[in-house]
Amino acid sequence: MSSVSPIQIPSRLPLLLTHEGVLLPGSTMRTSVDSARNLQLVRSRLLQGTSLQSTILGVIPNTPDPASDAQDLPPLHRIGTAALAVQVVGSNWPKPHYTLLITGLCRFQIVQVLKEKPYPVAEVEQLDRLEEFPNTCKTREELGELSEQFYKYAVQILDAVSLEERFKMTIPLLVRQIEGLKLLQKTRKHKQDDDKRVIAIRPVRRITHIPGTLEDEDEDEDNDDIVMLEKKIRTSSMPEQAHKVCVKEIKRLKKMPQSMPEYALTRNYLELMVELPWNKSTTDRLDIRAARILLDNDHYAMEKLKKRVLEYLAVRQLKNTLKGPILCFVGPPGVGKTSVGRSVAKTLGREFHRIALGGVCDQSDIRGHRRTYVGSMPGRIINGLKTVGVNNPVFLLDEVDKLGKSLQGDPAAALLEVLDPEQNHNFTDHYLNVAFDLSQVLFIATANTTATIPPALLDRMEIIQVPGYTQEEKIEIAHRHLIPKQLEQHGLTPQQIQIPQLTTLDIITRYTREAGVRSLDRKFGAICRAVAVKVAEGQHKEAKLERSDVTEGEGCKEHILEDVKPGSISDTTDLALPPEMPILIDFHALKDILGPPMYEMEVSERLSQPGVAIGLAWTPLGGEIMFVEASRMDGEGQLTLTGQLGDVMKESAHLAISWLRSNAKKYHLTNASGSFDLLDNTDIHLHFPAGAVTKDGPSAGVTIVTCLASLFSGRLVRSDVAMTGEITLRGLVLPVGGIKDKVLAAHRAGLKRVILPQRNEKDLEEIPGNVRQDLSFVTASCLDEVLNAAFDGGFTVKARPGLLNSKL
Ligand code: ADP
Repeated sequence: MSSVSPIQIPSRLPLLLTHEGVLLPGSTMRTSVDSARNLQLVRSRLLQGTSLQSTILGVIPNTPDPASDAQDLPPLHRIGTAALAVQVVGSNWPKPHYTLLITGLCRFQIVQVLKEKPYPVAEVEQLDRLEEFPNTCKTREELGELSEQFYKYAVQILDAVSLEERFKMTIPLLVRQIEGLKLLQKTRKHKQDDDKRVIAIRPVRRITHIPGTLEDEDEDEDNDDIVMLEKKIRTSSMPEQAHKVCVKEIKRLKKMPQSMPEYALTRNYLELMVELPWNKSTTDRLDIRAARILLDNDHYAMEKLKKRVLEYLAVRQLKNTLKGPILCFVGPPGVGKTSVGRSVAKTLGREFHRIALGGVCDQSDIRGHRRTYVGSMPGRIINGLKTVGVNNPVFLLDEVDKLGKSLQGDPAAALLEVLDPEQNHNFTDHYLNVAFDLSQVLFIATANTTATIPPALLDRMEIIQVPGYTQEEKIEIAHRHLIPKQLEQHGLTPQQIQIPQLTTLDIITRYTREAGVRSLDRKFGAICRAVAVKVAEGQHKEAKLERSDVTEGEGCKEHILEDVKPGSISDTTDLALPPEMPILIDFHALKDILGPPMYEMEVSERLSQPGVAIGLAWTPLGGEIMFVEASRMDGEGQLTLTGQLGDVMKESAHLAISWLRSNAKKYHLTNASGSFDLLDNTDIHLHFPAGAVTKDGPSAGVTIVTCLASLFSGRLVRSDVAMTGEITLRGLVLPVGGIKDKVLAAHRAGLKRVILPQRNEKDLEEIPGNVRQDLSFVTASCLDEVLNAAFDGGFTVKARPGLLNSKL
């Protein structure tokens, strides 16, 4: 304060009206600035001015006033304190708000208010000599912290210009303060005594170290940890650049008070740095013959995929490099993509880690957040490396087709850098901020469809299609892999449970409808759980199971077990069989455990009225059968479309109606009043029921035509026929994609005849022989042929379609 003592305060002062306390000369206080008047003052005098003069304010205590922002200046207290603004902190967002640190210099008296807006300025008269203040400073400082209840009193002290008067006023306050201090001292002493007692129980080292409170112990431990951390950094094999950063950071850490939020941040960072496997790797063991055996042992069928994986591994072995395209397995869920990835890691003796990319739409998910962010963390790649603890794992980038995009940057771009062999030896995660070498990591990607993989990423990958399975393949997979795995997981043995192939077929056809085997696997899980309960109960009770043991509330499985049916699992509740006899899962047991079949009779039931036809759709989840329904009603020629369908499908619907209208006479199609103008006084509603996945594409064209032809002719479409094909306005049938998946879906649904475009005939070669044998295929080049094949006895009297039997 003495440095400013010779200052004669300016005769005109801008006035800061505070209601947070009274600033006395020599004391310091913080005051928040939020009224419009004070904000103006701070902005024009403190944030722009640079001279010392401009930082001297007249601080006037102002009674808290809810209307302090009102336009008019409130009546001002006559005496105030000239103050030096020591610090301004604050922000302009979300709204302007500052805090001022001000130190009182001397008192002044307002002579005259010179202006009121935008903030008041007054002509003032200095009341104290500045150099007197350092002597009386101490006691006044205590008073600076006065709370609101002392507000009035403090103002009076401020007003007491004569020294004697001031002392008289402050003495009662000082006495109070002293009493308070005494009390505080007493309680502190008590606490210290207690603490000493606690410390005395601890080892001597603690007492001699730093006497004090319990918190000291934590501090000690932290110090020990820091020493450990430093040692780890010293002995770590991280590259030089990373090492340098760590040394710098630990130096900073040592100087930081532990209470600082940055302390924990820096410490976490350093802990990650020493934990990362900079130089730690597993040794590859690769024997192609062993790899083939392992892949074959773990996976039934999928020959194409296994072949390509073996080729890839062989090239790697010969060239000893990972450069080259990234393998990307594309196919419906549950066809074993992840599982093959895991086997690749196993054959190489590498660690395996799956990185789920579905829904990732932020760059920092891949590349981490910069450490300046609160809660910042490394991205999934670095996290994965930390988890596996080696720098050469197999990373399975799951669902690359479901990467999102957002304002936070494009994660695909970050992924490109990760996958690019030219760049990835220098991959920099934002959080680490030093390069990590990813060149030893083997990346494999999976996707349901290539359509949504960003093109730049697709370019880096070699796509291997993994199609869905046929029923026979599923049965084999179930009995070779799924059932044994489920038994093991549930602690069951083949001596306790037996699932015949016929039961498996029942599950496949009546309880699941999928391209892969995921739901099938889950159904086995459910069966094993139910059987495990029975076996466990059987082990406990030699005698007959009491019915009261079966809790009703525990879901249908347990409940249904009460219905005793011959030969079903329920028989075992009677324990008529010796416990070592396996529980046989037949169809009755299946119904008990899984409930009634979900897909039974569906097809023929739904096709029991005119105006329904079955189409075949391709979705990223595999092929699907798709019912198209139509109805008509009185109206004005409107077409209504509902269901999960895209724009192209809507166009197909319009095309179909136009073609039928122009061919109504030829086929004798009429509306309700017998007119060939099908839309005359008629509205049509087309519906594409069920299916969580939006379907789009032109391949529903033939199905919509068939469905409408059925509606207007009143004839039923054959219940065993499904179809696919694009149509033109002139009634031609054009080829479509996804034939294999679609045919498999028709087969799964138990249909017998598939109508497909003539030009897709070549695709039938891909269909497994047993499926081909079960189905008959009709290839059509125009809608006449489609309709003839879709209705029993044909649709026109003319040309019968060539029935193409599956011996291709
Ligand atoms: P995806 O990654 O394609 O969605 P998963 O690899 O998760 O499928 O496979 C689901 C389950 O099915 C796994 O338990 C897997 O082992 C099993 N599975 C799938 N295909 C086969 C197969 N061909 N042989 C053996 N098991 C298989």
